[in-house]
Amino acid sequence: MKLIIASNNAHKLTEMKAILASFFDDVQSMREAGIEHETVEDGETFMENAVKKARELAEISGCCAIADDSGLCVDALGGAPGVYSARYSGVHGDDKANNAKLLRELEGVEGRGAHYACAIALVWPDGRLLTAEDYLYGEIAHDERGSNGFGYDPLFLIPELGLRTAEISPEEKNRISHRGKALRQLVEKLKRSEI
Ligand code: IMP
Repeated sequence: MKLIIASNNAHKLTEMKAILASFFDDVQSMREAGIEHETVEDGETFMENAVKKARELAEISGCCAIADDSGLCVDALGGAPGVYSARYSGVHGDDKANNAKLLRELEGVEGRGAHYACAIALVWPDGRLLTAEDYLYGEIAHDERGSNGFGYDPLFLIPELGLRTAEISPEEKNRISHRGKALRQLVEKLKRSEI
């Protein structure tokens, strides 16, 4: 069975291909599979969006499909930006503007607890579904530091390390991150399931 990954993000593709290759005959990105499709991410939760993306791709391709959805949830902001993380400032994917807005929203706020969340959904063409979700807990700092990672990483402080997620190596981030942990959780479920 072929698996198609609902992403064209090079970093996610490398990571997912490496970890999932042994379970499928072939693992391809949407681009490699010649599929152009954009799911309207209108779910209220990360999982709703991940499942919707994977279901649509499995239906279009007739193959297995995997999709993830992730974001940042800040306690003092009632969980925002949440599913709107990529477009918090109004422009999709403008990390700089998103970080600036987050700092503005938290001006004068003492309790700065936050977590990253990642939901992953794997769907078979016959509709079977396997899901996993995991988190990375930390705090939103008062200024930006580090140049690794992406998105909110320069602001996301891991208190135990005293470092931002933009200051750790990709390997270390993968070990502790919401995405790395959710993916490994999914693989454990996949190992236990009868495909
Ligand atoms: P997506 O799941 O790739 O669509 O990511 C949604 C958005 O959440 C990104 O654009 C980032 O703003 C934010 N985000 C998700 N995961 C991370 C992370 O590991 N570091 C920084 N920002 C993240």
